[in-house]
Amino acid sequence: MKNFKKLQTFLETPRDILITSHRNPDGDAVGSSLALMHFLKSKFHTVYVSLPSDYPDNFAWMEGSEDILIYDSKVKRVNKIIDNADLIFALDYNGLDRIDKMGEYIAKSGVPVAMIDHHLDPKDFSEYTLSDPTASSTCELIYDFIKKLDKTSPLDAKVGEYIYTGILTDTGSFRHAISAKLFRTAAKLIESGVDAAKVQMLVFNSLPEKNLRLLGYCLNKRMEILPDIKVGIITLTKKDYEDFDIQRGDTEGIVNYLLMLKNVKVAAFVTEQPKIVKLSLRSKGDYAVNEIASEHFKGGGHKNAAGGASFSGLKSTVNKLKKILTEKYSTPLN
Ligand code: 5GP
Ligand code: MN
Repeated sequence: MKNFKKLQTFLETPRDILITSHRNPDGDAVGSSLALMHFLKSKFHTVYVSLPSDYPDNFAWMEGSEDILIYDSKVKRVNKIIDNADLIFALDYNGLDRIDKMGEYIAKSGVPVAMIDHHLDPKDFSEYTLSDPTASSTCELIYDFIKKLDKTSPLDAKVGEYIYTGILTDTGSFRHAISAKLFRTAAKLIESGVDAAKVQMLVFNSLPEKNLRLLGYCLNKRMEILPDIKVGIITLTKKDYEDFDIQRGDTEGIVNYLLMLKNVKVAAFVTEQPKIVKLSLRSKGDYAVNEIASEHFKGGGHKNAAGGASFSGLKSTVNKLKKILTEKYSTPLN
């Protein structure tokens, strides 16, 4: 980590700290934020967590999740906390533009930022930086960070479970972005008392009925396969959102089903939001969807998982995407 020693010394005195993570928070965002919050509180710091938008229900079992300040609805309160903060953690995102208005306020505040993240191409906005794109998740890095700050205390099992949550969700239950180091970290988490089966159950086997019906609908009615270019696309309209009462987080993971097909190398989940069309892209092997997201859809991400947005309608976005993919992948990659 850049400037780790300085940060370690800084944290020897109790501080006012704000932890932030990205919009549409996933398990890695919520897990890393709450794990770090509990750890820092145990070291007598005053700690708040703020996320730009609300998190999905399947992370509400984590202690402290009820106190997360959602920036969209608590602007004044969080701005005050920013004004008063000694340090701001930026977890699981690589540029202040990923947290919208809160990012603008943080940039203006001049409060030092500590970034811990695993996305490619980190922007230059942090005084302290732990950026490792080879890591499976920010939670994997949070484990390293906590262990480096405090080499002797045993890890609190609760903190371990929140770290394990982010690892599980960002690796699709240890299916991708895995490494020997990650499995060693997972082993150490389990040795610290993490109940892996319990976390798996809470995160993945706690769906309300409507989510499974929505998944069935997406696969049966909304899936298009383009075999020539090995692409699968699922689209959802505004009306689908109303009909299925889709809330934040309800569509999480649907895009991954497309990759179960032998003949699909690139998967796209394209949804009509109130103001924009959101794209979630996934891929296998050498197909780099972050290039598509950053070059054409004002987004970014990792080689095999990226996202972006479009401001033309749903149909025209899907057509644009098909055209781009056809040009780019008319010759198959590995
Ligand atoms: P998801 O498809 O789950 O929304 O996002 C997958 C990954 O793509 C995220 O972890 C993030 O790295 C990246 N991503 C998604 N949306 C955006 C976006 O609008 N901008 C950028 N820069 N990255 C995004
Ligand atoms: Mn992540």
